[in-house]
Amino acid sequence: MKKKQKMQKKAEIKSALKINFSTDWKYDPAPESADHIKLEKKYDLFINGKFVAPKKGKYFETINPAKETKLAEVAEGTEEDIDTAVRAARSAYEKIWSKISARERGKYLFRIARIMQEKARELAVIESLDSGKPIRESKTVDIPLAAAHFFYNAGWADKLDYAFPGRKAHSIGVAGQIIPWNFPLLMAAWKIAPALAAGNTVVLKPAETTPLTALKLAEIFQQADLPPGVVNIVTGAGATGAALTRHPDIDKIAFTGSTDIGKLIMKSLVGTNKKYTLELGGKSANIIFEDAALDQAVEGIINGIFFNQGHVCCAGSRLYVQESIAKNLIRKLKDRMETLIVGDPLDKNTDIGAINSKAQLEKIQSYLTIGIEEGAQRFQPACDLPKSGYWCRPTLFTDVAQSHRIAQEEIFGPVLSVQTFRTVEEVIEKANNTPYGLAGGVWTDKGAKVFSITSQIRAGVLWANTYNKFDPTAPFGGYKESGMGREGGVHGLYPYVELAS
Ligand code: ADP
Repeated sequence: MKKKQKMQKKAEIKSALKINFSTDWKYDPAPESADHIKLEKKYDLFINGKFVAPKKGKYFETINPAKETKLAEVAEGTEEDIDTAVRAARSAYEKIWSKISARERGKYLFRIARIMQEKARELAVIESLDSGKPIRESKTVDIPLAAAHFFYNAGWADKLDYAFPGRKAHSIGVAGQIIPWNFPLLMAAWKIAPALAAGNTVVLKPAETTPLTALKLAEIFQQADLPPGVVNIVTGAGATGAALTRHPDIDKIAFTGSTDIGKLIMKSLVGTNKKYTLELGGKSANIIFEDAALDQAVEGIINGIFFNQGHVCCAGSRLYVQESIAKNLIRKLKDRMETLIVGDPLDKNTDIGAINSKAQLEKIQSYLTIGIEEGAQRFQPACDLPKSGYWCRPTLFTDVAQSHRIAQEEIFGPVLSVQTFRTVEEVIEKANNTPYGLAGGVWTDKGAKVFSITSQIRAGVLWANTYNKFDPTAPFGGYKESGMGREGGVHGLYPYVELAS
């Protein structure tokens, strides 16, 4: 090749390498159709198998956080409505649900699971509209897993003797269940399915910003001919939840939400005979050793914190990288972050959807400032953000100290704080230096290291060479301020039974 040609070739390669994939390569829009979605203008409370108006006649709006537009009005349940729902649940428990055979209970759960699968697309679109999460996630994670929890627990209904060998499992009565907005339908399934399988009835209070899929689930219960009163759904905000925890005829409270509200609930239960499980906040450590497969680890880190906008209690929000690979890994991570697409939750290419509410966005933004004030370095890719709606660019903080608030407090957004370590002892010490203990991840190619480290980290769920993988057969729950009790797996049935020998 002549010298001139060679130089031209070199210049071409150089300019090709300069392509910034996030700005120079745009995907065409790939929106999921919402034409088939049927949403009512107004939703009532679901009590005793029917939709009924709230006693005080009050409704609140649920909005689409990606557009700031109203999706529907939803009933605000009061103390009186909670009382009606608890009475319905008690009557259904005594007259029907505790009387029918375990096999029959299982049949209802299987039927509900199958209808959820039939309606999966509709449920996924509604979930993304109401919560802001990308359709790819609601389609592949939230809805299939929610149906899987019903399938899994349906199988246990007539096999409780095998779940608790040598013991006799009795149902406990009426369960009051309060759920958050990050996985609305999935959390409802996590709570309702084991309660029903074990023979209990339910009053569920969905989160005020994401009530729609729970109300769709109520329609599925009607379609499945679930006896009236077995599950009641009372929408509303914190006051409605507090009324449910206070109600004297509730036998068990299951709560998922913030540690602050969890503490309040725990206090309100002191001196009562109510059982409880609390699944609360987290600040989970994702630990990358120098012998890890780095490109896979980068995907795991991205999945661990930016998945679902970081609205995940077990998000890997504290990254610990072994010093020898830190520079390389952070460069790879930043390059990968440049390619993330933030935007329309209904677009199939979207990686990071909308933040669920204005209040949550403001909380996240306050931490973006706190990080800088604390002396950390902030990195955000230069991605475009839609004009209206609640959005946050994926954010990485380096030069973080263990004492920084961004390394200690739960942000519940797409914000990752990075620290380095040299030795195994150091990283275990740092990972455990937190008031929380929900989850964590370890990346290394040495199996023995995985087992040694995971046995020393005080967290309920630990992933090795992966992150944020869920399965209905696996128990989930926390240590310390991340809560008490387990959900999922056979462990998830314990809180819903009384065991006799
Ligand atoms: P988050 O910070 O994730 O919104 P919260 O703990 O505030 O979590 O909310 C989780 C659930 O708890 C929601 O359904 C909410 O309405 C409910 N809730 C809020 N305050 C109370 C309370 N005092 N008692 C019972 N439930 C509550």
